[in-house]
Amino acid sequence: MSLPSTARVVIIGGGVVGVSTLYHLARAGWTDCLLLEKNELTAGSTWHAAGNCPNFSASWAVMNMQRYSLQLYRGLAELVDYPINYHVTGAVRLAHSDARMREFERVASMGRHQGLEMKICTPEELQAYHPFMETHDLAGGLWDPLDGDIDPAQVTQAMAKGARDLGARIARFTPVTGVRREGGEWIVETDQGEVRCEIVVNAAGYYARRVSEWFLPYGGRLAPAAVMSHQYFLTDEIPELAAWTKEAGRKLPILRDVDTSYYLRQDKNGLNLGPYEPNCKAHWITEDDPFPEDFSFQLYPDDLDRLEWHIEDAMARVPILGTQGVARNINGPIPYAPDGHPMIGPMPGVPNAFEAHSFTFGIAQGGGAGKVAAEWITEGATEWDMWACDPRRFTDYTDREFCIDKAMEVYGHEYAMHFPRHSWPAARDRKMSPVDARVRSLGGQMGSYNGWERANWFAQPGDDTSEEATQSWLRAGPWEPRIREECEAVRDGVGVLDLPGFSRFSLEGTGAADWLRSRIAGALCRVGRMTLAYFPDERGRILTEMSVLRHGEDAFTLITAASAQWHDFELLKKHLPEGLSLVDRTRELSTLIVAGPKSRDLLEGISTADLSLGWLTHQQAEVAGKPVLMVRVSYAGELGWEVHASFDDMPAIYDAVLAGGAKPFGMFALDALRLEKGYRTWKGDLSSDYSLLEAGLDRFVKLDKPEDFPGKAALLAESRRGVAKRFATLVVDAGDCDAPYMSSVWSGDEIVGETTSGGWGYRVNASIALAMVRADRAAPGAELEVEIFGERRKAVVQPEGPLWDPENLRLRA
Ligand SMILES: Cc1cc2nc3c(=O)[nH]c(=O)nc-3n(C[C@H](O)[C@H](O)[C@H](O)COP(=O)(O)OP(=O)(O)OC[C@H]3O[C@@H](n4cnc5c(N)ncnc54)[C@H](O)[C@@H]3O)c2cc1C
Repeated sequence: MSLPSTARVVIIGGGVVGVSTLYHLARAGWTDCLLLEKNELTAGSTWHAAGNCPNFSASWAVMNMQRYSLQLYRGLAELVDYPINYHVTGAVRLAHSDARMREFERVASMGRHQGLEMKICTPEELQAYHPFMETHDLAGGLWDPLDGDIDPAQVTQAMAKGARDLGARIARFTPVTGVRREGGEWIVETDQGEVRCEIVVNAAGYYARRVSEWFLPYGGRLAPAAVMSHQYFLTDEIPELAAWTKEAGRKLPILRDVDTSYYLRQDKNGLNLGPYEPNCKAHWITEDDPFPEDFSFQLYPDDLDRLEWHIEDAMARVPILGTQGVARNINGPIPYAPDGHPMIGPMPGVPNAFEAHSFTFGIAQGGGAGKVAAEWITEGATEWDMWACDPRRFTDYTDREFCIDKAMEVYGHEYAMHFPRHSWPAARDRKMSPVDARVRSLGGQMGSYNGWERANWFAQPGDDTSEEATQSWLRAGPWEPRIREECEAVRDGVGVLDLPGFSRFSLEGTGAADWLRSRIAGALCRVGRMTLAYFPDERGRILTEMSVLRHGEDAFTLITAASAQWHDFELLKKHLPEGLSLVDRTRELSTLIVAGPKSRDLLEGISTADLSLGWLTHQQAEVAGKPVLMVRVSYAGELGWEVHASFDDMPAIYDAVLAGGAKPFGMFALDALRLEKGYRTWKGDLSSDYSLLEAGLDRFVKLDKPEDFPGKAALLAESRRGVAKRFATLVVDAGDCDAPYMSSVWSGDEIVGETTSGGWGYRVNASIALAMVRADRAAPGAELEVEIFGERRKAVVQPEGPLWDPENLRLRA
């Protein structure tokens, strides 16, 4: 094919992900799309992948994507008329502990909610699925009948055929050498000429970081990823296995021993063992191991010594593994993002550019990833909330060392459980509070929030602060009495939370107020006041929530979650009219939350502020002789102020607040306090899976305001027909664990919703879950059940409004 001079979309990279993106664009009717591959399709990581395709994921979004892939793959060969070897063998996942069984219970429940039939198994049931396995030391396991393995090259070629048949184009052996922007379009440069296009997609696999360099002049950043080596080996034929397969008429299911970290599956009549070893290796990071110009269809040298421990462990589990030698070893590159999830979505900072790269499980995720990427491109929004994979979730702190350290950590813990009180330790201390040392000296146990270190809780001398102690799903733990004390201090006295890293933007210029009104669903506040503002998409679904502080007719500060920094800035920037100024001031100021019934008394002694000004007001004042912005608001649900000040001034202010008797509290306490008020968190309770009306945010939606805003028509239509789901606060008769994110909500034998967050409320002494429940089951007083790690616990829908201080009297005091 000669290189076309134009296309609407150009995709760089012909692995499973780039090809799936092309296929899904074509299916959406976008056929004027071109994929450029420097070698043959699949030349990157795809050709040598083991091809395992699980549904299993602890992330709701990733499970959605994988479930979609598998469903697509099951019908793909027929759909596009291209043969694919796809063995849907099922898979067993082994649990060595009660904690692991709880993880399986949770994922099985999520799976059930998504229409999957994962089953919790006893060791005996596991053995019936996999008769060659030793089970004496197991607690049990999980069976997924739809797991299996697919030929990665064939599935890629099948989607390529499907795309071509629909009219999309693929140019192989066409390396892209650069991009430039001209007249609002992209010029994609190759060694065979140039292609002008509207939209460009970086799907270059382990070359994505390199490709991202070309976008630096256009506002881009280096893609946060590092390349890890991953190995699996194939044994010679095992006669016993061959005989069993013949007799049973089936292949063995894939076995994943996640506690010892490997997968083992039948390949023809031999076995394929693939460990994720903690003594892992990142490649292409030192001068004596430079990034190669081309690595198409190449492998790293064998390094089986690294796998020795896992080989022995697997041989003890499945003894037939030890009866034959290694026939072939595959050691290939996989890109790892710092949290192990891929990057799919808008390229941060760059117009009309998208990303779909850094996949560690690109075969299993490729089908779904293509759908998600195509939705981003064609509709600007995805069916499922995909924040877990959004490139904007990593911001300005992901330098090379960070990426390598995190990739090593994630790879070495590929199958680890993600406990709610655990903070992963690698590559920390990237962004520090001005009072970080003080916070730590007070016992602060730190967590990372968009790279900012914040205290989760404050330990007392003698408390167990080990990482091991946090390896638990239980509510109880060393932190629990401390969280209670911190919450009680905020309830009865005054607490202080050091909160660096609030994302903050200033918006100014003639017409700023009018423009803002045209972007948010609700009304704007008056000068001197603040309001919560919600930004919907065209479907009326929630994109974000910001605190809007109005300083003048057309002068605002917008404050939003630390993790939302790039997402929200781009949301504003994308539609910003000329003449308005939008500046990110996140690094200029830091914040203290001072909250509790005695906060006024404390601040009176150290501040010049008029503390009689009402709830939702703000003012410039001094605290401890330093200039501050004081905002009368409290996410903790008590009388309180946010104190915003420069980094330089914050130590003096923090010291003065502490000297005034405030007790330091942490993020865990704040989470408990906000749950009791029904205050939502971004990307937990507030996601683009739900509309503003479903989320119960009606009072922030003004459908009768004169201005149009995104989603107004959709919300109007929804308000007429009634919502399908409704936000509900549940009080749960929980056992030793509170409801995790995405626990299924049952009514009788039906799943009627899911929790979006849960935890203990120390002021109301109850386990609380915020949930989205089918509207006909969400009436106050309705008796439901929440499935917490496999146990269905009674839950009652609460009356509308907060559980704690429903009249907001304490806030307004
Ligand atoms: C040993 C091993 C086993 C694995 N097993 C599994 C498994 O069982 N299940 C699973 O889901 N995943 C598995 N993976 C991971 C999987 O291989 C990857 O996640 C997946 O292949 C990534 O696909 P991709 O399309 O993103 O990248 P790639 O397949 O790497 O494709 C990127 C493409 O971009 C091209 N390219 C790069 N730069 C340019 C340029 N400048 N111009 C044009 N083209 C360019 C490359 O040539 C390449 O073909 C395994 C990986 C390894 C190493």
